Amino acid sequence: MTFTLEPDHSAEPELHELVMSLRAYLLEELIPYEQRLGLSPETKLSRADLEPIWQRSRELGFYGIALPPKLGGQGLSTRELCALKEELMSHGSVLAHSVLGDMGGPLRAGSIMQYASTYQLEKYLMPVIRGERACCFSITEPDAGSDVRRMRTTARLEGDEYILDGGKVFSSAAPFADFAIVVARMDGEAEAYSAFLVDLDAPGVTVRDGEVPMSGQQIEGDIDFDECRIPVANLLGDVGQGLRIGIGRINLNRLLHSPSIIGAARRAWTLSVEYAKSRIVNGRPLIELQAIQHKLADMATDIYAARSMVAATAAKVDRGEDVSVEANMCKLFTAEACFRVVDEAVQIHGKAGLTRGNEIEQLFRSLRMYRIVTGTSEIHRNAIAKALT
Ligand SMILES: Cc1cc2nc3c(=O)[nH]c(=O)nc-3n(C[C@H](O)[C@H](O)[C@H](O)COP(=O)(O)OP(=O)(O)OC[C@H]3O[C@@H](n4cnc5c(N)ncnc54)[C@H](O)[C@@H]3O)c2cc1C
Repeated sequence: MTFTLEPDHSAEPELHELVMSLRAYLLEELIPYEQRLGLSPETKLSRADLEPIWQRSRELGFYGIALPPKLGGQGLSTRELCALKEELMSHGSVLAHSVLGDMGGPLRAGSIMQYASTYQLEKYLMPVIRGERACCFSITEPDAGSDVRRMRTTARLEGDEYILDGGKVFSSAAPFADFAIVVARMDGEAEAYSAFLVDLDAPGVTVRDGEVPMSGQQIEGDIDFDECRIPVANLLGDVGQGLRIGIGRINLNRLLHSPSIIGAARRAWTLSVEYAKSRIVNGRPLIELQAIQHKLADMATDIYAARSMVAATAAKVDRGEDVSVEANMCKLFTAEACFRVVDEAVQIHGKAGLTRGNEIEQLFRSLRMYRIVTGTSEIHRNAIAKALT
């Protein structure tokens, strides 16, 4: 079998078919729709732009596909989900984040299912799975990023309500979300944190558009809580479980971000090969130069190595094994390697790669962010070293 950088799933017919049908949806329906609307990654999207995509993706079976069948999904393994996530990001679709439910959808809510009461499942999580409501996850504060324990948002019990005070920043999907999963410090207790489901239209809650990161995507929101009253029934899990809920999700999230990063790097590689074949220097295509071929070889090697790590770790998750170290290794290696890939892609594109409006320039900015978001590379190294030394 000849090696191709595009993964070959033909030995697993069901997965192969899923990946091919996702590709067909992207290439034949979603991307042409985005082009008709003139959407770019930096377009300010509204809820009205997104909801039809959630619904259509659900109709086709992609939205929440990894969930168990009793929750409307297909019970995909983590390895299969990773394969779909890579494919999703490898074609340059602007709305890709809304197909499987990464942005405010079932993938975001999925890992808190185990903590949710029947009431919380019915009122909050099932509507997210059906693509009717959206959520965001809010831990970060201006002075509490990597060091989440510095958070100042507090919750205090008063009768049968918790009163929330403080504020969160950089909550992805907050501008479109109906509720937030908020982690707050229990008032008066130095080291007890709890997680709450907070309706974003409740009295005492204000959602503002957040800062625009270098990717130009306008999907972050800041949330302020001013004497916001939350029913006791909205406490997720037990008092004191907030960081476990938040960080438990973060470990799986770190792994699941990796195939998305790889998909974006694969897109950069594909565009670079196409460019190198069509760009003529000194009378011949760039791709005939060994210096360019070496770049492409290094890029392909990084992508293949990252994908192999992710597949091995995802298989461990599927066997029920703990992957807290490996998830950090995957995110660390993938973010660093795929940034090298896109940096070389810019180099191959020359001035075109430095130009606003060129897809490679946008990919460069997007991939740079992953060395910080969902855990910085330094924090991943800390976690790996702590576990191994
Ligand atoms: C686009 C985007 C989307 C985001 N989405 C969300 C979201 O949905 N929900 C949410 O809650 N948050 C979200 N965040 C916040 C994100 O998780 C934080 O930015 C990240 O955790 C890093 O925190 P910080 O930016 O405050 O950096 P800091 O923690 O201040 O770190 C600054 C630098 O110091 C280094 N550093 C810090 N501590 C250590 C240490 N112990 N050892 C070694 N080096 C260290 C870091 O690695 C980094 O290089 C998002 C951020 C962005 C940019």
